[in-house]
Amino acid sequence: MTATYAWSDHRIFEAGTGPDARVLLFGTDHASLFALDGSARDVLARWRGRESVDLRDASSPDREVLEALRDALVLVPASPQRRPAPAPIDPAEIPLATLVLEVAQACNLRCAYCYAGGGSYGGESRLMHPEVARRAARRLVESSGDRQLVTLVLFGGEPLLNVPALRAAVLEAEAAASEAGKQLVVSLTTNGTRFTPTLLDFLREHRVGITVSIDGPPEIHDANRRYAGGRDRRTYADVVKGLALLRTHMPKPPAARVTLTPAQWSRIPEVFRHVLDLGFLEVGIAPVSPVTAALLPTTEQDAALFTGFALLAAQFRQAAAAGRVLPFSNLLDLLARLHVGSVKSSPCGAGLGYLAADAEGRFFLCHRLAGEDEFQVGNLDAGIDHAKIRVCLANQAASRAQACRACWARSLCAGGCHYENHLREARLGQPPGGSCDFIRRWLEVGICVFADLCRDPGNPVFAFLGRRADG
Ligand code: SF4
Ligand code: SF4
Repeated sequence: MTATYAWSDHRIFEAGTGPDARVLLFGTDHASLFALDGSARDVLARWRGRESVDLRDASSPDREVLEALRDALVLVPASPQRRPAPAPIDPAEIPLATLVLEVAQACNLRCAYCYAGGGSYGGESRLMHPEVARRAARRLVESSGDRQLVTLVLFGGEPLLNVPALRAAVLEAEAAASEAGKQLVVSLTTNGTRFTPTLLDFLREHRVGITVSIDGPPEIHDANRRYAGGRDRRTYADVVKGLALLRTHMPKPPAARVTLTPAQWSRIPEVFRHVLDLGFLEVGIAPVSPVTAALLPTTEQDAALFTGFALLAAQFRQAAAAGRVLPFSNLLDLLARLHVGSVKSSPCGAGLGYLAADAEGRFFLCHRLAGEDEFQVGNLDAGIDHAKIRVCLANQAASRAQACRACWARSLCAGGCHYENHLREARLGQPPGGSCDFIRRWLEVGICVFADLCRDPGNPVFAFLGRRADG
């Protein structure tokens, strides 16, 4: 084994203040994390400036620290040809894991920020034919290779506008999964205004996980999420009624998906608390996508978004200190990844095991890119077009490849959401990197929360994170 090493990219964070102050070392390529005590900091100060580190030159205590850094790949073999090259991902080699079915490209709401143009993703409102739903559901299972677990996502528009296709998809996916000896997970994202007892019975019997879109207290929710047409177009009261019905039929509360416009970002903690108090299992908050230039945030609004998320992270920390989990989905997803040391080589699964099918059975890189011709990657008749996926992903990465290569957050971010980047850059002509500052600051918050948790390896929050990471 070589004794000569070079420093791989890493970043030093100062986390916390006063007696809680800690210094953290984050290894960029492998998302490895160390809390450095005083003596480790001294070792680092002695060795970090050197271009190459020969372990034979180190004293025994120094060597112990350096070896730990080597084991975490913060120190890597000095000879460049021995450094692991990032493995290129070939979409054709990644079996399908998740298929999002746009069963209704139509919606009974007209949300102020809708990226899907009233649910139709451009074009006319339309419903998926049950036969298309059946074929797509079976295709998911048939394209899943040796995966044991497949996920069907029922999406829209408002998927509950097309119950025949929804039922057809669920039943066919179950049959296909059972024939193939696979485990099936089905989830549904809905605006919560269309539940009926019969429908909820079906969703319970088929163990469908439910996410309800709700944006906070009535004045915020109703400003964002209104019915299409009609005199009183507010929806908050109906969503709350729907939740009450859901509670009487489903064994488990739903998750909440909150979308907030930049003008609402200053109210994030209050919105979170309101939605949680409605009885949701967990709450995820999505800053609205800039579908028009009017939704591009100002610097102050960006700052408010960060402050809101950071406040929820602080609340998470407090709860975790008492062994409780604050169910803030955004942070839980990040912590679960840090917990299992998962490293991203692509921003998300879009095109890499994750696809969406529109009402006609055309495949798209992801549900939010449905309807965009340049992101269409095959269809039910012709199959998945892996060559086109390669082109889409390469095009998406091209404008930011250099910045991402030099970014300390690359193993946790890997380029950001394709859809968001497409909106900002291709549609609104913004320069690449508009979200990077927020992404990095938020990741830093998550890393610090995680380091804090690591002080008590017996904290039950870790078991929760482990289960979440397992899926
Ligand atoms: S924060 Fe920006 S530069 Fe860094 S990895 Fe993400 S997209 Fe790339
Ligand atoms: S491109 Fe964006 S919206 Fe689509 S799957 Fe990836 S992260 Fe999600």
